[in-house]
Amino acid sequence: MDKGLGMTNKFVFHDRISCDVLVAGAGGAGLRCVAEILEKRPDANIVVVTKVPHPQKSHTGTAQGGLAAVDPSDHTDSPLYHMFDTWKGSDCTADQDVVKQIVESAWDEILWLERRGMFYTRNEEGKLAKRTFGGHTIRFGESSAFRAVFESDRTGKGILDTMWGEAVKQGVEFYNQHLLTELVFDKGVCTGAVLFNQKDGRFLYVGAKATVLSTGGSGQVFRVTTNCRHNTGDGLGVVLQHGLPVMDPEAVQFHPTGVVGPGILASEALRGEGGILRNKDLEPYMERYAPKMKDLAPRDVVSRANEMEIREGRGILNPDHNIEHVWIDLRHLSDYVHDVKLKEISTFFQKFVNIDPKTQLAPVRPSNHYHMGGIPTTLHGEVQDSALNTIPGLYAIGECACASFHGFNRLATNSILELITMGRIVGNKVLENLKGATRRPEPSAEAGEHTFTKFSSYLSAKGSHNVDKLKSNMRNIMSDKVGVFRNEKDLSSALDTLRELQEDARAIHMECTSLIYNQELVQRWELDNLLAVSLVITQSALERRESRGAHTREDYPERDDAFNYHTLARISEPGAVELSKRSINMDIYESGGEYAEKFGFIARKY
Ligand SMILES: Cc1cc2nc3c(=O)[nH]c(=O)nc-3n(C[C@H](O)[C@H](O)[C@H](O)COP(=O)(O)OP(=O)(O)OC[C@H]3O[C@@H](n4cnc5c(N)ncnc54)[C@H](O)[C@@H]3O)c2cc1C
Repeated sequence: MDKGLGMTNKFVFHDRISCDVLVAGAGGAGLRCVAEILEKRPDANIVVVTKVPHPQKSHTGTAQGGLAAVDPSDHTDSPLYHMFDTWKGSDCTADQDVVKQIVESAWDEILWLERRGMFYTRNEEGKLAKRTFGGHTIRFGESSAFRAVFESDRTGKGILDTMWGEAVKQGVEFYNQHLLTELVFDKGVCTGAVLFNQKDGRFLYVGAKATVLSTGGSGQVFRVTTNCRHNTGDGLGVVLQHGLPVMDPEAVQFHPTGVVGPGILASEALRGEGGILRNKDLEPYMERYAPKMKDLAPRDVVSRANEMEIREGRGILNPDHNIEHVWIDLRHLSDYVHDVKLKEISTFFQKFVNIDPKTQLAPVRPSNHYHMGGIPTTLHGEVQDSALNTIPGLYAIGECACASFHGFNRLATNSILELITMGRIVGNKVLENLKGATRRPEPSAEAGEHTFTKFSSYLSAKGSHNVDKLKSNMRNIMSDKVGVFRNEKDLSSALDTLRELQEDARAIHMECTSLIYNQELVQRWELDNLLAVSLVITQSALERRESRGAHTREDYPERDDAFNYHTLARISEPGAVELSKRSINMDIYESGGEYAEKFGFIARKY
């Protein structure tokens, strides 16, 4: 390799490979898709890329609580109730065709996982144990539904291990510690992607008949987040760099119980098992905000309640860390719940804030958690560049995608359900389209241009700014001004600052100019993605002058019919976000069936 690469203005591909399917992202969504393809076509040549050192380090492994699915043998529950809860939870912005598709195939997916070794927790009778989570009800809100299956409080790890095993069994080739930095097109068809190998600093071109983006979340745009370090919105950044849209980026979920300090998640399973939120007077205040569901109201409702308690002076200020918070009271739960069902979460409180949740109150406050928005797709995960048009060869699944199962507020345990059902569905769509694809189109002559230009500009930039400082400015602005409560003044000021940060980023001086194992360089590239994602979140939040689901405008507190649509946001030129609309699918409502009126634009009270 040319040792002087960092000094030149133009890089080259060190290698070119080709495959049938390139899957970028080895979390739950990507691996489920891989497993589906290989079960049906064991000879398919699949390359799986992950930016982390091993697929099992993907973020899905941190999911604790469980996954929702209606057990057909449970006669108190019904897929119809699950669909209703998801629609109501979404604040009437999920796409009903997607909701129906996912909910109706949920139980088959639970069995699929079990048959491949998923080690679900069982009840005393030896059947799959189930617990309840916020917003999941039976009979259209009458009482809580016990609908989530789980593997202790490490459900995501169980899923990731199981699916990784499936992929390995079939001999899939993993490219670990590689970054997908660019998509390649030929006359509007996606023909593959550019990868950067972090270990040896080489650029690789991968030609693929199908490219699947499953790059996960974007939580690192916020200072306080439950998301891991590598959730930097890369998939979104890459599509935005190609002028493609992101859907509903303003729909950002805050989890009500981030552990104070690190912000990491104290799972909703705590409230599912009976944990109670209390303010400084030890009042169990959720009754005032959600008289019926109380602590088991959806996350947006509980997050707003926690923030309101703090704002109105009923929070607790601990001088040790100076972060105001509320309490979650777990002291009344049995030793069995603490030691068996919630073992890992209980130890988080011991490790991170040095308290014993069996005997002491645990400090929590809202933390950024999940992004409902993402790369717009059809029902089958085909990426769209407008409300009507799909891009041949390109698919997206998982948290980076938005077929819109969650609308403007995701219910707990519905994400993992989405990963595995949509992973299967996208796998089948890829297989169907592969049948007609005999030859891969030629990549355009510009392949690599985005990546090479960016990387050479990073390495040659002069100036006094550094990656870490700009990133922390961006994350502070997003947490302080684009958080649980939003308003015109703060959003406008955040936008101005984000544009200045984009400008400053041009003058980031790299301390290290090697391409090999240069984490500063990787973080510099991630910063561009984070800034692009922050910009589309903030601009879309500014233009949506209403409150809907997790998007709460203090200056426009009501949901407004004029905004009954999905936002499509693209970056037309540096710093400029262009917005358009996509309609919400209301198939269940329009079908006129027995319960159709439950799927209209209903009021959202819990
Ligand atoms: C702490 C926590 C607990 C949760 N608990 C639950 C729960 O109990 N139930 C539930 O339903 N949901 C839960 N969620 C949400 C759920 O876990 C996530 O939405 C889901 O795991 C995302 O899966 P994914 O496959 O889309 O992405 P991930 O699992 O994040 O995988 C993304 C993959 O993409 C790779 N990648 C990213 N960028 C690049 C790039 N540029 N190049 C190459 N590879 C790249 C990553 O390395 C990784 O392999 C939880 C979330 C958090 C944060």
